[in-house]
Amino acid sequence: MTSNGFPAPGRLPQERRIVTEIPGPRSRELQERRLTAVAPGVGSVLPVYVTDADGGVVVDADGNSLIDFGSGIAVTGVGNANPRVAARVAEQAGRFTHTCFMVAPYESYVAVCENLNRITPGDHEKRSILVNSGAEAVENAVKIARYATGRPAVVVFDHGYHGRTLLTMTLTAKNMPYKHGFGPYAPEVYRAPLAYPYRWPTGPDGCGPEAAAQVVDQITKQIGPSNVAAVLIEPILGEGGFIEPAPGFLPAIAEFCRSNGILFIADEVQTGFARTGDMFACEHEGIVPDLVATAKGIAGGLPLAAVTGRADIMDKVHGGGLGGTYGGNPLACEAALAVLEEIEEGKLTRRAARIGEIMLPRLRALAERYPAVGDVRGRGAMLAIELVRPGTKDPDPELTARVARRCHERGLLVLTAGTYGNVLRFLPPFVIPEDLLNEGLDILEESFAD
Ligand SMILES: *Cc1c(COP(=O)(O)O)cnc(C)c1O
Repeated sequence: MTSNGFPAPGRLPQERRIVTEIPGPRSRELQERRLTAVAPGVGSVLPVYVTDADGGVVVDADGNSLIDFGSGIAVTGVGNANPRVAARVAEQAGRFTHTCFMVAPYESYVAVCENLNRITPGDHEKRSILVNSGAEAVENAVKIARYATGRPAVVVFDHGYHGRTLLTMTLTAKNMPYKHGFGPYAPEVYRAPLAYPYRWPTGPDGCGPEAAAQVVDQITKQIGPSNVAAVLIEPILGEGGFIEPAPGFLPAIAEFCRSNGILFIADEVQTGFARTGDMFACEHEGIVPDLVATAKGIAGGLPLAAVTGRADIMDKVHGGGLGGTYGGNPLACEAALAVLEEIEEGKLTRRAARIGEIMLPRLRALAERYPAVGDVRGRGAMLAIELVRPGTKDPDPELTARVARRCHERGLLVLTAGTYGNVLRFLPPFVIPEDLLNEGLDILEESFAD
């Protein structure tokens, strides 16, 4: 530990070090190779080819050390190649790498499920299943909800993101790049308005209750509550631009679901595992979902995801109805157990909250100085700024891309997001040293000054 309470530097120096242009010659060479080998449908935010990463830095093939404000999209909160995760995975790899839990089970799968049942919101009896990706978790949550209720419809929201499979891209709001040309889409998916405070027509004040009333009205008039299996929402919307639904919105929707036999599914794939300063973002307004989908931060980068839900719902589905060859792979389960120990022993929820306390005032100061910063929002280590043309709320995706590029050139890895592509989002690992966090913010300021 250092004096500021952040963990001591690990294997790699926790410093920004730029020794070539970004991307450098070696990365550009690899990019050339990639263009002839990898289908262009898979993009990369910043084509620097990574050779090493640790704590708050990512090192590339040219020897540049970049400050990481992305955590591989909210995955490596406990730090990249976290020593406890790496050791547990290596140890497991030396014993057995796979049996398929559906063929011959092992303890770590059970232990991960016990932990998920314990830490997800609500103290009711729960069960979990393990799968491979966030999309697979969301898709299974919908399957389970339909099975348990015997109803077909699923309600999702404007700006929502739930994945790239056929069902989950249907559940996702944004056409380009997620849906365009990939239809026809899955049936019985309905989209409702979101309480988006910054863009609500009558302003942020009445936004929560007004938007909830519109959702209830739409479900009642257009779908019929008795046809709805589930309402599915991210408690803070991720790819949609880190939108925190206005206060009161989520509780009102959850209450409407409860009184109509509709299951409330929280997609905590991006918000889960300490990211927002709570273990799960639903805790902020005391929401207890019937089903929770988790992934990203669950296993420090090993592919793992889960559905956790009320035992009476989860117990309904017949044997063999759920699962998959790799779901709950033993390496990923060991990683998840290590991640949970790191979060709980290291009190990383508190550290995520502390990152928010450091970053938010500086982002707000940026908004005062630059009228292009229209909104500052988020919680814990999940923060964003929305960029607009000064004096309006017209999205400015060009400026957003320009600022991101300047940050990249200076050695700060930032991501963009948002339905209009005009959001800069920040997802630092919880273990980033405080001086590096502040240096990242200095770079952001310099990039705006340009
Ligand atoms: C990333 C994400 C998904 C999809 O997860 P994958 O592992 O990429 O399939 C689903 N929901 C949310 C909220 C996400 O952020």
